[in-house]
Amino acid sequence: MTAPNIDTIVSLAKRRGFVFPSSEVYGGLGSAWDYGPLGVELCNNVKQAWWRWLVYERDDIEGIDSSIILNRLVWQYSGHEATFHDPLVDCRECKSRMRADKLEGYFPEEGPHAAFDANARIRAGLVKCSECGSTNLTDERFFNMMFRTTLGAAAAEDDPAALAYLRPETAQGIFINFLNVQTTMRRKIPFGIAQIGKSFRNEITPGNFILRTREFEQMEMEYFVKPDAEHFKLVDEWVALYLEWFKGLGIDTANLQLKEVPAEELAHYSKRTVDIMYRYFPERAEEERQWEELMGIAYRTDFDLRSHSSKPTDAEGKRVNPDSTEDLSYFDESMKQRFYPHVIEPAAGVNRTVLAVLMDAYSERTNDKGETRVILKLSPQLAPIKAAILPLAKNKPEIVGMAKAIKRSLQPVLRAVYDDTGGIGKLYARQDEIGTPFCITVDHQSLEDEAVTVRDRDTWEQERVKVSDLAEHLQKRLKPFPVATPEIAS
Ligand code: ATP
Repeated sequence: MTAPNIDTIVSLAKRRGFVFPSSEVYGGLGSAWDYGPLGVELCNNVKQAWWRWLVYERDDIEGIDSSIILNRLVWQYSGHEATFHDPLVDCRECKSRMRADKLEGYFPEEGPHAAFDANARIRAGLVKCSECGSTNLTDERFFNMMFRTTLGAAAAEDDPAALAYLRPETAQGIFINFLNVQTTMRRKIPFGIAQIGKSFRNEITPGNFILRTREFEQMEMEYFVKPDAEHFKLVDEWVALYLEWFKGLGIDTANLQLKEVPAEELAHYSKRTVDIMYRYFPERAEEERQWEELMGIAYRTDFDLRSHSSKPTDAEGKRVNPDSTEDLSYFDESMKQRFYPHVIEPAAGVNRTVLAVLMDAYSERTNDKGETRVILKLSPQLAPIKAAILPLAKNKPEIVGMAKAIKRSLQPVLRAVYDDTGGIGKLYARQDEIGTPFCITVDHQSLEDEAVTVRDRDTWEQERVKVSDLAEHLQKRLKPFPVATPEIAS
C-alpha cells in the first residue's frame, strides 16, 4: 500500500514532526517548508545512504562541498544567465500567474517539435488556465529563475559589478573544481565527483508540498568519461543503478517510470536525458497525469568543462571564454591525448526522494479493536528513530532506570529514544506512525531475567532478547538492503 495522495503525507508530516509549513507565525511563506526533528533525521539518512552508496562503496567517486554563491561569470559561461528560464503566462480572467509549459494544451498532441509555436496555440485558445479553466491567457514570456543578490556592504541594488546569484544547481561547483579534484586525488578518467547541497530556483508555480519549492536540496554527481565513450549506453547504466538504489530505499518499482526527454525539451547542455518519474499523484484518474520527475540522468557532453576553459576558440579564432584563467582539459596518458572529458550526470533531489519514500512507506492496518493504525514502513536504514525503549510500568523506578540505561547503552550505535508518556498501546501506535522499526519494552520480568521484548513494526511480532545481546541483535536486523554497485566502464 502507498499513500492515497500527497495530502495524507502533509498531515502526517505536520502531526508527527517531520515537516512544518514555514514561517507559520506570520501566515506562512508560499511553498516553503521547515523540517522538524524527525524530518531532519530522515533527510540526513537519505543523504547518508546516497553518499555511502556512491562515495564510499565505489572506488571511482570523490565528494566535494562547494559554495552556494559563486562568481557570476560561472553562470554566464554555463549558459544559465541566458537560458535558465521558464515560460510564464497570466490568466486574464482569474489573474493567476502560471508556468505555461505545465498547462493543458501547451504542447501539441503529438508532443513538442521544433516547429511548434506556443503563442499561436495560446492565441488559438488551446491552452487552459490550471486555476479556472479559461483560455484567455497572455502570450508567454520568459522569466529567469535564478535568485539575484548583491555582494558587499556598499553595493547598490542594481550595481552589476556586485550582482551574484544563489546557485540553481550544485553541478557548476563540481565543474569548476574538476582539475582541483582530479589532480589532488590523482584520478584517472573515468571517475566521478559527487555533491549534496542546497539549490535555489525562483519557480513560477511552486507547490505540491516539498515536490516543488524555491529552496531545495540536490544530490548531484558528474561522471567524467572519454569523448568516445558510449555515452547513451552509460545513461542507461546509471538509470539502472538508480532504479536499484530507489528499490533499496524501499520504493516499489511499480511506482517508478522512465521518461525519455524529447529533444525539444532538453536543457541547453544535454544531448540526452532520461527522467526517473515517481507516481506522486496516484489519486488522478488518468495514469499519465500521476507522474512527476524524481530525478534526471543527463548526458551533458563536454559543454561545461569546455565553456569554463580559457583555451577553446570560435570559428574566427577568438577565445570563447576570455575571462577564464584555467584550461579544464585532461591529458590521458594511455592515449597520449588531451581532451575535455564528457559527462554523465545523475541529478536527484533530496526532498523529492524523501516525499517518494514517505508515500511508499505509508500503510494502514486494523488492530484487534477494529481501529485503523498508520504504519510507516520505512526502510530501517532511513527510519529517523531505530528503537524506542518503553517501560511497562512508569511508576516503578527499577523498570524506568533499566529502560533509561538501555537507551543510553544503545545510543552510541543507533538512534534510540525513551518514551513513557502514555499507555503501551498508544506508545506502539506513535512509533509505528513515525516508522520506528523496533519497540523495546522493559517489564517486571526484565528485572529478573535481564531480557526485554523486541516488537517488530511491520509484523507486530514480539521476541524476547537478552539485554547483553540487544545492540548486536538490532544492528543485524537494521542492516540496509544490499544495493548493486557494479562498476561502470569508460
Ligand atoms: P522540473 O522539470 O520538475 O522543474 P528539472 O528537470 O528542472 O525539474 P533538474 O534541473 O533536472 O530538474 O534538477 C535535478 C533534480 O533536482 C530534480 O529531478 C528534482 O529532484 C530536484 N529539483 C529540481 N527543481 C526542484 C524544485 N523546485 N523543488 C524540489 N526539487 C527540485
